[in-house]
Amino acid sequence: MRGAVAVTSTPGEFELLEGADLLATYRFNTMTAEHHFCGNCGIYTHHKRRSNPNQLGVNVACLEGVSPFDFREIKVYDGSRHPADNADHKTYLAGTLTFTPAV
Ligand SMILES: [Zn+2]
Repeated sequence: MRGAVAVTSTPGEFELLEGADLLATYRFNTMTAEHHFCGNCGIYTHHKRRSNPNQLGVNVACLEGVSPFDFREIKVYDGSRHPADNADHKTYLAGTLTFTPAV
């Protein structure tokens, strides 16, 4: 899911409106997180978080009426230093992406 702008949801709040028959899932490393993507075009849609399996990360590009370009600043977390892999469960920020629309 590199490069996707994701928002947090929960399994109870999340409703897949279409394309369930095309969804594919993969797991790796600790096998905790479930990464879902479109088996047809490959776009990442959502995932069950490894850091909190009761949360979902949802690709905003897959939400009706939302665009990744609606966000002017996006925090980028350092995925190579996952909170589940350090004793303090600390989340490390790698940087911030900014989007400035053309006039
Ligand atoms: Zn697709």
